[in-house]
Order: sequence, then C-alpha cells, then structure tokens
Amino acid sequence: MKRKAIYPGTFDPITNGHLDIITRAARIFEQIILAIADNPKKNTMFSLQEREHLAQETVKHLPNISVIKYSNLLVNFAKEQKVHILIRGLRTVSDLEYEKKIAAINHLLAPDIESVFFMTTTQYTYLSSSLIKEVAQHGANVQKLLPTPVYQAFKLRFLMNTDC
Ligand code: ADP
Repeated sequence: MKRKAIYPGTFDPITNGHLDIITRAARIFEQIILAIADNPKKNTMFSLQEREHLAQETVKHLPNISVIKYSNLLVNFAKEQKVHILIRGLRTVSDLEYEKKIAAINHLLAPDIESVFFMTTTQYTYLSSSLIKEVAQHGANVQKLLPTPVYQAFKLRFLMNTDC
C-alpha cells in the first residue's frame, strides 16, 4: 500500500545524500513532503527561503514530491498535513543514536506517527551539509556532492575556482 510521508530536515543546503533518500523514498510512497525546518536556533548558511528554493529546484523532476516550510513542532506539522510517516536518513552509528532519541520523543508526543529510516547509499556515508559548507568555504570543489542548483548557489557565494 502506498502512502504519504514527510521527510523533514534543515537542508542547509540539500545535498546528493538527501536527494538519494528522496529518490528512493519516492518509489515507495505515493506522496512525499520535503519539509524544511525554520529553526532560528540553528545558524544556517542559507535562509529559509533559499533552502526552500534550492530544494524545489533539486526535486522538480520528481512529480510526487512537494516542498513545504514549517516552523512548528514536527508532529503537529505532520498532523496538520494528515501524514503519519516521518522519513529520516541514517549514515553512521552516531546518526542512529541521535535519530533514536528523536523518534522516541516523537512517538511519545504522537503515537500514531511512525518514523521510518533509510540507510544511506555507501558513497554518501560521510556526506553532510555541514561538511560541504566547511570544505567549500576553503575553496574545495564540491560539485560531485551537490545537486546542480545547489552547486551554482555555492559558486556564487564563494566564487569558487571551478578547476580545483
Ligand atoms: P536535521 O537538522 O534535521 O538533522 P539535515 O538536513 O541535516 O537536518 O538532515 C535531514 C535528514 O537527512 C536526517 O535524517 C539526516 O540523518 C539525513 N541525511 C543527511 N545527510 C545524509 C546522507 N548523506 N545520507 C543519508 N541521510 C542523510
């Protein structure tokens, strides 16, 4: 049975690791909301509007994905959207430890909402938005790790040397 799901995150910015999870999930779920968190406590590099725009551009070839910003409690946002499944990605044991806690609190708050986990594809195990931002600031070419619209945004921001 195909269902709706939400893939929430900061997506600062969306990477090929996120895109891999979304693409695989899009084959399983009928409809997926890529939910961009407005978390003012997180000092994001890209504004909420920029993160939303980059995500929209990245997933526009996938017809069953929509991008929505949210600023309330995730389980309340899920209820508003009438969605009962949350997708998260797992890379490492530390992700697992962290995600277990988030899933547990969400289950406590909303027992009818399930978290489901996708294991990362091996090549993206060490890929994170924060790592990309770190190396890109020092001029590294991160083209292979980013969707094209995101790479273009990085180039504009850091005036990267595309030959490196
Ligand atoms: P958050 O701040 O909510 O952790 P992120 O944008 O960093 O937001 O990540 C959103 C989700 O995507 C998390 O479940 C994270 O573990 C997962 N994720 C991030 N990068 C990857 C990757 N390279 N492979 C698989 N999952 C990933």
